[in-house]
Amino acid sequence: MGTVMRTVIVGGGVVGLLTALECARAGHRVTLVEQGRLPNPHAASHDRHRVLRALHPDDPGATRAGVAAHHAWRVWEAYLGVRCYHQVGALTGLAPHRVDSARALLAAAGGGGHALDPIALARRWPHLCFPAGAGAVYEERAGVLLADRILEAAVHRLRHHPRVQLLAHTAVVRLDVADRSVILADGRVLRGDRLLVAAGAWARTLLPPVAADRLVLHRQTVLYCAVPREQHHAWTGTPAVAALDAGSGAWLVPPVADAPLGLSAHEVARVVPSLAGRDAAVRWTRTLRERFAPLVPGFHPGWITGARDCYFVADAVTGGALLLDLADGEVFADAASAGGSFKFAPLTARMLAIRLSGGAPPPTGLRSLDRPLRIGTGRLPDPPGHLPEQRTW
Ligand SMILES: Cc1cc2nc3c(=O)[nH]c(=O)nc-3n(C[C@H](O)[C@H](O)[C@H](O)COP(=O)(O)OP(=O)(O)OC[C@H]3O[C@@H](n4cnc5c(N)ncnc54)[C@H](O)[C@@H]3O)c2cc1C
Repeated sequence: MGTVMRTVIVGGGVVGLLTALECARAGHRVTLVEQGRLPNPHAASHDRHRVLRALHPDDPGATRAGVAAHHAWRVWEAYLGVRCYHQVGALTGLAPHRVDSARALLAAAGGGGHALDPIALARRWPHLCFPAGAGAVYEERAGVLLADRILEAAVHRLRHHPRVQLLAHTAVVRLDVADRSVILADGRVLRGDRLLVAAGAWARTLLPPVAADRLVLHRQTVLYCAVPREQHHAWTGTPAVAALDAGSGAWLVPPVADAPLGLSAHEVARVVPSLAGRDAAVRWTRTLRERFAPLVPGFHPGWITGARDCYFVADAVTGGALLLDLADGEVFADAASAGGSFKFAPLTARMLAIRLSGGAPPPTGLRSLDRPLRIGTGRLPDPPGHLPEQRTW
C-alpha cells in the first residue's frame, strides 16, 4: 500500500458510510462527520427499502453498472453480516416494441432478463394491473435492499474499526478547500489530506455557489402499506416494479422481510426551495392513493400505515447525479444523486476510495462518476456528451 491518507468525510448516508469503510479497508485513516445521529433518520438513505434493478433501458453504461451493483451488494451483504438484499426480482414496464431491445441491452451488460407480454404479466401477477398492451422485462438478479439495516450494519462496522473516528451530532458549517479542512459548528477545524462531501440534500449549503446553483432540490412522498393477510400469498415473490404506469412514473417496492409495501410516483417528486419537514401533505398522499387504486386492484386506503416525504438533489443539467472534483483529485463532492444512488453506492464508494488515494479507478459505466466535473472559476462546465440521466431507480 502507498501513503496512508487521513480522509475527512462529511455525511453519514450510504455514500459516506460505504466510502469510509472502503477507505479504512484500504489502510487509510478516516474521520466521518455527521450532523445528526448515526445513522441519521433524516438522511435520504434512511428508509425501509431501496430497489436494485440493473436495466436502464436507454443507458448501456448504467445497465452495466446495475449488473455490477447486484454483485457488489452480495459481497457487502456478506461483509456486513446482515440479510439486507432480498432478490425478489425487478420488473421494468415497457412499450411492447422496446422489450426485446431492452432485454438484449441487459444481456450485453452481463445481466439476465425475461421478456414478458401482457398475457404473461396478467397471469403471473394478477394483483397488479399493467397498462393495456404493455410488456416488461423481468430480472431475477435484482430486488430490494433493506436500507436502514444496511446503514445500521455499516455504522456498527465503522464503530469497531481501529482506523475510523465517527463524530455524530457534529455539523460542518464550512469547507476550506484550499486547506483541505472543514469547520465545525463549535468552531473546531478538522484537517485531512483528502476531503469528501457526501451531504445529500444538504450539499448546497456547503458547496461553492457555482456548484450549489446547479443543484435542484426535490421533495417526494412515499406511502407505506400493510398488505392484508389474505393477500400475503399473492405478494410473496412480487418483484419491485418500475414504470407501473408510464404517465405518472408510478413505482412499487414489494413487502419483504418486515418491510412494508412502498408506493410512489415521479409525479409526486416536486422541486422545492428548501428542506422543510418530512410530513406528507394530504394533497400528495391523495394523489398517490388515486394513482394506485386502479394499478393495484384490491388496494384499499386502509392498507396505508404511514407516509413520509424524502428529499434529494439532482443536477439541473442532466437531472441526475453529479460528482465534483473541487481540488485536483484531493477534495470531492458527491453533490447530486440520481434515483439509483443507493444501489450504486458500492460502486461510488469503491471509485471514490481509489480516487481519494490518488489512483485511477476503472470506469463504472456511470457518466457522472467516471467523469467528475472539475470546478474552475466561473460557470461549471456541462458534462461532456451529457444525456438526461434516468431519474428512477
Ligand atoms: C423517495 C426516494 C426513493 C428512492 N429510491 C431509490 C431506490 O429505490 N434505489 C436507489 O438506488 N436509490 C433510491 N433513491 C435515491 C437514494 O436513496 C439516495 O440518492 C441516496 O440514499 C443518497 O445517499 P447519500 O449518502 O448521498 O445522502 P444521504 O443519505 O442524504 O446522507 C447525507 C448525510 O449527510 C449529513 N449531512 C448533511 N450536511 C451535513 C453537514 N453540514 N454536516 C454533517 N453532516 C451533514 C446528513 O445528515 C445525512 O445523514 C431514492 C430517493 C428517494 C428520495
